[in-house]
Amino acid sequence: MSFVHLHVHSEYSLLDGSSRVKVLPKKAKELGMNSLALTDHGVMFGIIDFYKACKKEGIKPVLGCEIYVAPRELTLKEGKQDAANYHLILLAKNNEGYKNLMKIDSMAYVDGFYYKPRIDYENLRKYSKDIIALSACLGGEVQQHLLKDNYEEAKKKALLYEEIFGKGNFYLELQDHGMEEQKKVNKILIKLSQETGIPLVATNDVHYIEKDDSKAHEILVCIQTGKTIDDPDRLEFESNEFYLKSEEEMRSLFPEASEAIENTQKIADMCNVEFDFNVTHLPKFDTPEGFTSDEYLRHLCREGLHRLYEDVTEVEEERLNYELSVIEQMGYVDYFLIVWDFIRFANEKGIVTGPGRGSGAGSIVAYTLGITKIDPIKYNLIFERELRCAR
Ligand SMILES: [Zn+2]
Ligand SMILES: [Zn+2]
Repeated sequence: MSFVHLHVHSEYSLLDGSSRVKVLPKKAKELGMNSLALTDHGVMFGIIDFYKACKKEGIKPVLGCEIYVAPRELTLKEGKQDAANYHLILLAKNNEGYKNLMKIDSMAYVDGFYYKPRIDYENLRKYSKDIIALSACLGGEVQQHLLKDNYEEAKKKALLYEEIFGKGNFYLELQDHGMEEQKKVNKILIKLSQETGIPLVATNDVHYIEKDDSKAHEILVCIQTGKTIDDPDRLEFESNEFYLKSEEEMRSLFPEASEAIENTQKIADMCNVEFDFNVTHLPKFDTPEGFTSDEYLRHLCREGLHRLYEDVTEVEEERLNYELSVIEQMGYVDYFLIVWDFIRFANEKGIVTGPGRGSGAGSIVAYTLGITKIDPIKYNLIFERELRCAR
């Protein structure tokens, strides 16, 4: 049994994390760990780079996010009462869980944004399948109630989260960065675990890789908060313990709860997300009855051809057929139909679009579809070369 870091911030926790997604897996490997999680604040932007970097090092990536839970429904955004939010760590167990995690995170931005991207209980419940949740740092809901000496409320919330994610999928997080508040809360979390059967997990709130990075990290946080390092009122990390610790260091912090260390490996073993980068994930365009995508694109282009050229000669015909064959071969038919659709929509609604579309300005397909407004025959732009460059 070994220890796995399940609470890790990278540079994608903007101006709050200084560990690099590409370096983190290397360090985890050096420390003899077989897995590593990424749980940035409210975002999953680093996931793909992190996944690839982990695979390169032979480390299993555990994909997650430290999300913000709204105190009320996510659509309610009134004054201070909705500005308060609780931290919660979510980890994807498999590809289904990863999809749910993306759904939760997108919703937190699109519908729930109020100072921070926020989600609520109802939507956590809706997308909880195949997700493991950890109660997070002192900013977590259970810990917040414990800090206010409200044990009963903390217990109620812990049981609520366990009910949302299902038994065995919610853990009480023990952290010790040398802060008095943590020591106080940890004692009660252990008691809460014994009383409710909710398992414990030990984490370090990793914001930088090496202990020596703490000074640079403090400066980074100053940039975030618009303060100088000499400002007595600046937001300060209370210690220099927020780094990627070794298993021995982690074990020594929690001698009274060794199962919290063992559970990190158990959780990592439960998390298996696999990406296939050889599959194209372009969406499918819904064609009208009786048309395949290929036929519909050809149909639209022919229509445009006769509308735009008074006399259609062999030059235009040949050029159109050639371009269409390249687009079909490369599997970009639906992509062109989708771009046609939104440019058409913009034109109908009077939304301004530019005359060209990057390298598409040299394409007769783009021109006949109305995606661009530049006649490639007249200006002799070479689509073929552009397309090759784009590849
Ligand atoms: Zn947190
Ligand atoms: Zn954190």
